[in-house]
Amino acid sequence: MEREVVDKLEGPGGPPPALADPAALRASFRWDDARAELAGLPGGALNMAHEAVGRHARGPLADRVAFRFLPRAGAPRDLTYAALWTEVARFAHLLEALGVGRGERVFSLLGRVPELYTTVLGALARGAVFSPLFAAFGPEPVQTRLELGDGRALVTTPALYAQKVAPVRDRLPGLRHVLLVGAPEEVARHPGTLDLRRLLAEQPADYAPAPTAPEDMALLHFTSGTTGKPKGAVHVHEAIVAHRVTGRWALDLQPGDVYWCTADPGWVTGISYGVLSPLCNGVTSVVDEADFAPERWYRTLQEQRVAVWYTAPTAVRMMMRAGEEAARPWDLSALRLVASVGEPLNPEAVRWGLRALGRPIHDNWWQTETGGIMVANVRAEPIRPGSMGRPLPGVEAAVVRAPEGGPGPVEVLGPGEEGELALRPGWPSMFRGYLNDEARTRRCFVDGWYLTGDLARRDADGYLWFVGRKDDVIKTSGHLVSPFEVESALLSHPAVAEAGVIGKPDPVAGHLVKAFVSLRPGHAGDAALTKALLAHARKLLGAAVAPKELAFLPELPRTRSGKIMRRLLRARELGLPEGDTSTLEGGADAPPAAPPEGGGAPP
Ligand code: ATP
Ligand code: MG
Repeated sequence: MEREVVDKLEGPGGPPPALADPAALRASFRWDDARAELAGLPGGALNMAHEAVGRHARGPLADRVAFRFLPRAGAPRDLTYAALWTEVARFAHLLEALGVGRGERVFSLLGRVPELYTTVLGALARGAVFSPLFAAFGPEPVQTRLELGDGRALVTTPALYAQKVAPVRDRLPGLRHVLLVGAPEEVARHPGTLDLRRLLAEQPADYAPAPTAPEDMALLHFTSGTTGKPKGAVHVHEAIVAHRVTGRWALDLQPGDVYWCTADPGWVTGISYGVLSPLCNGVTSVVDEADFAPERWYRTLQEQRVAVWYTAPTAVRMMMRAGEEAARPWDLSALRLVASVGEPLNPEAVRWGLRALGRPIHDNWWQTETGGIMVANVRAEPIRPGSMGRPLPGVEAAVVRAPEGGPGPVEVLGPGEEGELALRPGWPSMFRGYLNDEARTRRCFVDGWYLTGDLARRDADGYLWFVGRKDDVIKTSGHLVSPFEVESALLSHPAVAEAGVIGKPDPVAGHLVKAFVSLRPGHAGDAALTKALLAHARKLLGAAVAPKELAFLPELPRTRSGKIMRRLLRARELGLPEGDTSTLEGGADAPPAAPPEGGGAPP
C-alpha cells in the first residue's frame, strides 16, 4: 500500500508547477530568500495586510478580483484588490477612531461574509491582533476565548450577537466595542452595539498600514480541541513570509488562478489559506457563503472554473458518500490541483479523487501551531496515497523519540521507525507560544526540536506517513496500532462511510482495538455486517492489528472543524468524563439549530 504511486494527470495546457524542482529547492532554499521577496515597509517594518492587499491596491493587480462571493441565493459579488483595500482602510480607520490600539485584540464571529475579510485585514493593517471565532460556537466557548484573548472589539451579526454574545456580555468588561453587520433597523435593536456598515461609510478610503515589526503579534488562533481544551496559539506578522511561499509550493497558487478554500474562517486554515496566502499570491478566491452540499460544490467547481481546490477529508468523505456518479455530470476540466488537510486522508479518498474528479487528492500536513503547511504531496512529485508527502523547502522535519516530559536528548529515528513528528524551529509562521501558558509552550520545545504531538513514520524516500496523535495510538499485546491504518482498512469496505478506532483496556492485551463505524445509505448494521467488517479488516491488517470489537453509530463525534474525536469515543466507551466539549459538533454548548449565518459547514 505504501509504495503505491499515483502518477500525475496534467490538465490540457496546464502551467508547469510553481514548485518545479522540489529537490533542488529543498537543498538551496533559505527563508531569507522568501523574506527578500516581500514588499516590506520603511524601517524594516512588516505588515501582513500590506503584503496581502495594500501593495497590490495600486499595482498591476488593482483591478483583479480578489474575492468572488457566492451568496446562498442570487448573483455572485466581486471585490477587486483595489476595492478590498478601500474597505480594509476604512476598517483600520474605524478601529483607530474607536481607540483600539496596536496589539489589542479584534475578534470576529461571522460566517463567510465580505465583512469577515475586511475585519481580518483591517485589524492587521491597524496593527491590532485578529482572532477568529467559529460562528457555530455557543455562548460558553465564545466567552472563554474572548476572555482568554482579552478581546477589545468584536465583529458579528445581530442574530449571532443575540444568541451568543448578549447572554455573556456582562462577563466581558474588556470587550468595549461590538460592531454588527446587518440592516440598520436590526442593529438598532441591540443596545451597546454599533452599526459597522454605517460607520465604515464615514471613514477615509486609504490608510497607511501600521509599521508593525516582524515579531509583533498579528493573529491569535485557537486549536480545534480534538485532544483536549483548545489552546491559543500566537502568530506574528512575519508568518506572512511562509503563508506566501507555502501557498505557491503546496497548493500551486499561480497569479490569476481561480482558487477555492472550503475551510471555515473560524479556524486557522480559513485564515492562512482562505485569506492571506491567496491574496499574497494574486489569485481570485471563490467564497461560498452556503453550507456544504455535494451538488452545490460540483456546480461551483464547474461554473467558477476552479483551478485549485483546498478542502478537507471530512468534505471528501461526504462527497464520496454521495457516490462517484454524482460527479459525472459536471465539467471539472479547469481543476489542476485538489489538496486536503486537517485529518489523515485515507488512500481510498486519494484514489476516489482520481476517479470522480479526474485528479488525485494531494494530502498535506500542518497544525495551528505551525501556522502554515509544512509537509505536502506537491504537484511536481508523485503522490503516495496515505502519505502526507515530504517536507516543504525550508522545513526540517524528523521522526524522533523524545523523553517523556524531560529536557532531552531527542533521538532522531531512521526510515521505517515510528516516533513523534518533530520540526526544527525557525520557520517564519511558527507559533511564538500558547497565550498565557508558558509552561505548556516550553514542553513543546525539547533539545532543539518542536514536538508536534503527532506520530509518524518516514520512508526511505523521505515521505512521511501519519500514524496517529500521540494520545490516540493504541498499544495492544506489545504492538503499536495506528488508528488511521485501521480506519483506512475499514473505509475500503463499500458499506463503510466513516470509522473511528480506539484502544479499550483489556486485562490480557493491555488494550484491544475497538472500531466505531457509520454506514453508507442502504446498509444495515447487523451481526452479519459486523462479522464481514471484522473479517475484511483482519484480511488487510492481520489479526494483531485488526479490531476485535466493532459497533455501529449513526454519526461519529466530530469537532466542529470536522475531525473525528477519538477521545470522546474512548470516554463514552469507558464511561469516563467527556472533558472539554466546547468544539464538539452538536455539543452541549451548541445552539439548538445552526443559525442562518452560522456557516456550520465542515470544516
Ligand atoms: P488540539 O490541538 O486542540 O487537540 P487539533 O490538533 O485538532 O486540536 P489543529 O491544529 O486544528 O487542532 O489540527 C492539527 C492536527 O490535525 C495535526 O496535529 C494532526 O493531528 C491533524 N492533521 C492535520 N493535517 C493532517 C494530515 N494531513 N494527516 C493527518 N493528520 C493531520
Ligand atoms: Mg493539536
